[in-house]
Amino acid sequence: MHQVTIDESMSRIKENMAKVKHKIIVMSNKGGVGKSSVALAFASALSSKGFKTGLLDIDIHGPSIAKMTGKEGVLPVSDGKALEPVRVKENLVMLSMGSLIRRGGTPVIWRGPMKLNVLKQFLADVRWGVLDYLIIDAPPGTGDEPLSICQLLPGLAGGVVVTTGQEVALLDSVKAVNFLRQLGVRVLGILENMAEFPCPHCGGKIDLFKAGGGEKAAETLGVEFLGRVPFDPGLLEAGDKGRLFMDTKKDSPAARALAAAAEKAVKGLEEK
Ligand code: ADP
Repeated sequence: MHQVTIDESMSRIKENMAKVKHKIIVMSNKGGVGKSSVALAFASALSSKGFKTGLLDIDIHGPSIAKMTGKEGVLPVSDGKALEPVRVKENLVMLSMGSLIRRGGTPVIWRGPMKLNVLKQFLADVRWGVLDYLIIDAPPGTGDEPLSICQLLPGLAGGVVVTTGQEVALLDSVKAVNFLRQLGVRVLGILENMAEFPCPHCGGKIDLFKAGGGEKAAETLGVEFLGRVPFDPGLLEAGDKGRLFMDTKKDSPAARALAAAAEKAVKGLEEK
C-alpha cells in the first residue's frame, strides 16, 4: 500500500490552503467562555458581508459547531478522496469533528485516528475551495491541537483570544497571547465575552463575571481590545437549537458587539 509521507501531506495542505486568503484561529485558555460561539459569530458575520467563509472546528473531543449550526448528523459528502464541507448558508461552509460522528456517537470516518492525522486531513483533504476566510475554532487551552494547527498551517493570518471579564482573564489571556506570539502568529485581539447581563426586569446591568478583565488584559499585553459582548440568553438558546444567532437576532446588542468585534479583528488583513 502506498504510504503517505509527511512531505506529501504537507504539500497537499499547502496546495489546498493556498486557496484560502486569510486563516484565523480563535482560542481561549479555558472551556465555556464562548470561544465556539465567537468563532461561529465571526464566520457568520463575515459571510453575511459577502466573504466566502469556512469554519473549521478542530475540537476533536468536544466539537460543538455542527450542533450550533443545526447540522448535527449531516454527514459531509465524500468521493473517497476528499470531503465536501457542510453548507450552512450562503457563503458559509463548515466542518467539525461532530460532522463525522453519527447521532449517538459512533465515528463513521477516520476511525481511531491519531489527532494529528485528523488535523492534516481537515486541512488537506477537505474541498474548502476558494475562500476569503477560514475561521478555526480551537479546543480550549494551548495544547496539542492548537499547537499542531499553528505549525501545520502555512500563513496563519492571526489569532483571536476569547476570555471573560474576571480577574483571571489577564492570566488566561497572557497564556494564549504568549502562545500565539511564540509561534509567530499575529494577535488580532482579545474579546471579553459574557461581560454583563442586562436585567430583564429593571434593565440594569449585572456583571456576571466582573467586567473589565479582558480590556485590562488587552491593555497590559499591548494588543487590540475587540470589545465586550453581553450575556444574552438568546445566544445560548440559538446555540442549543442550531439557529444562527447573528442572523436571527442581528439587531441585539450581543450580535452587534460580535459583528463589530469581527470587523475590528479583520481590519487591516484585507489591505495587505
Ligand atoms: P467554549 O467554546 O469556550 O467552550 P461555547 O461557545 O461553547 O464556549 O459557549 C459555552 C456556552 O455559553 C454555550 O451554551 C453558549 O451558547 C453560551 N454562550 C456563549 N457566549 C454567550 C453569551 N454572550 N451569552 C449567553 N450565552 C453565551
